[in-house]
Amino acid sequence: MMRYPIALAMAATLTATTVALVPAAASAHGGAPPKAPTATGYGGAVSTVDPTATAVGLDVLRRGGNAVDAAVAAAATLGVTEPFSAGIGGGGFFVYYDAKHRKVHTIDGRESGPATMTENIFVDPADGLPYDFQEARVSGLAVGTPGTLATWEAAAGKWGTRSLGSLLQPAAKVADRGFAVDATFQQQIAANAAAFGQFDATSELYLPGGAPPAVGSTQRNPDLADTYRLIAKRGTGVFYRGPVGADIVRTVQHPPVAANPTSPWAYPIRPGDLRLSDLANYRLRFPAPTRSDYRGLDVYGMSTPSSGGVAVGEALNILERTDLSKVATTQALHQYLEATALSFADRNRYVGAYTPQATLDKLISDRWAGQRACQIDPARALIKPVPPGDITASGCTPALVGGPVEDGQSTTNLTVADRWGNVVEYTLTIEQTGGNAMVVPGRGFLLNNEMTDFNFTGTQGSAPDPNLPGPNKRPRSSMSPTIVLKDGKPFLALGSPGGATIITTVLQVLVNRVDLGMSLPAAMAAPRASQRNSPGIQAEPAFHTQYGPALTGLGHTFGADVAELGAATAIEFSAGGKLIASAEPARRGGGAAAVVRTRR
Ligand code: GLU
Repeated sequence: MMRYPIALAMAATLTATTVALVPAAASAHGGAPPKAPTATGYGGAVSTVDPTATAVGLDVLRRGGNAVDAAVAAAATLGVTEPFSAGIGGGGFFVYYDAKHRKVHTIDGRESGPATMTENIFVDPADGLPYDFQEARVSGLAVGTPGTLATWEAAAGKWGTRSLGSLLQPAAKVADRGFAVDATFQQQIAANAAAFGQFDATSELYLPGGAPPAVGSTQRNPDLADTYRLIAKRGTGVFYRGPVGADIVRTVQHPPVAANPTSPWAYPIRPGDLRLSDLANYRLRFPAPTRSDYRGLDVYGMSTPSSGGVAVGEALNILERTDLSKVATTQALHQYLEATALSFADRNRYVGAYTPQATLDKLISDRWAGQRACQIDPARALIKPVPPGDITASGCTPALVGGPVEDGQSTTNLTVADRWGNVVEYTLTIEQTGGNAMVVPGRGFLLNNEMTDFNFTGTQGSAPDPNLPGPNKRPRSSMSPTIVLKDGKPFLALGSPGGATIITTVLQVLVNRVDLGMSLPAAMAAPRASQRNSPGIQAEPAFHTQYGPALTGLGHTFGADVAELGAATAIEFSAGGKLIASAEPARRGGGAAAVVRTRR
């Protein structure tokens, strides 16, 4: 069901800019610290997509903070330097390995829908058709109560050693002094220029003079610095029950559409119904992690409302039935692509915020993996989409009706380890790159559009859809912060952005590292492909070139290539306390890995 955009006559005039720009050389911050995709050493490590955030996290570790302290400080910094992917306007999932108690904890800081949210919130009452994605995204309807600030507060309070206020200070400083615009930052604005141009607060910050800032110029955000300092001084109540919250609610209920937008926009910008009571009633959840064993490793992931842990776990259980280290690379990749298609079919059918635990347990069980793996033919690819399996059946599962797949490409991920052996794997997001495009006026951060992670209408034919909107409900996520233990101790921690491709990226890096004999940096750098139960595999060009002919020979079909999948970060824990911190060498402009000490 496609709708045609309603053309709105909007003046394409450029608004004057008020943002303060100073050359990078003049910045007190002195430009970005050096960045490297791999760092090996001891005493703690940080890996993020951004050198400034990594430097902040490393500094916290060097001053005696633990992994949780460093993760919160680095995440707050990403809110400044990666504002289109993360920030206090959004949500995320925090996974923590507590070395002392040898236990994995999680925080569900996912955005919650307003209490008044109805199932048909993304259906146009005028014609009964779902809104176009951009129409839903750039609206107040898309905004859920942000959980990120509550996550930082809870993590620091429960497991950290520093106050939230002190952990916000380095980020506030970066926001004040500014940081050097890189090509990724500029490109993310350029891709959002039309949406950002609809709101003065957003264009003043990110479209100075009506265009994205130059690479190398200094980007400052004094409003966000003030917001962080206000929270540091007066606590998170200013956000959930106070003036910052009031500004969020006003922005959602009365989107501050510019009198003279810098470019035309094809849709009406609809208000939402998020209220102060929704913010005041927001509660974090602390679900037990998902767990699956994979060739003797314990893989811990995020439970619902993320589908990440269950989908990664089911695919690993399917893959475990074949010794991938003993088969040719083409066959290993064939198994990987088939396992993810089957796992996505089940995820789409069964996994949402309210999936009963018994269903999740079933999906992540070895028995179920056997019922799914038996459908894989080593000599021939299954026809996609494959139907979801009937979880009430026994034997090699009979087919049910299939559903469509979804996509996304925003978000950010970070991995931190400290000298005591604690580990944090944290994925945070505002959903699309640029969120809903509305910077809260005077507060310096973008709002999320996380509610568009709900299915707009049912996707499962006559079967119920687990991911339809509802009051106070959290949309299904694909975020997959993952911590892998070996003999009860950390072996690998990893995660990635990338919408639904997060699940396949995490899996592929795991399979590369555990089964295909690659080092962690090689496993991260290797070309990626994602089969999420759609007719065509989504692949990076290098993967398509290298493996396309052999996989096509097995009956696989490729869709259009994508330039890059994911922007992962990871840390491996090897013998003698050695840490291998790993970030992307090239994707999203390359990430930043660092260790506290290079020598023991
Ligand atoms: N909102 C997506 C999710 O929760 C993440 C978006 C992305 O990574 O692009 O799965």
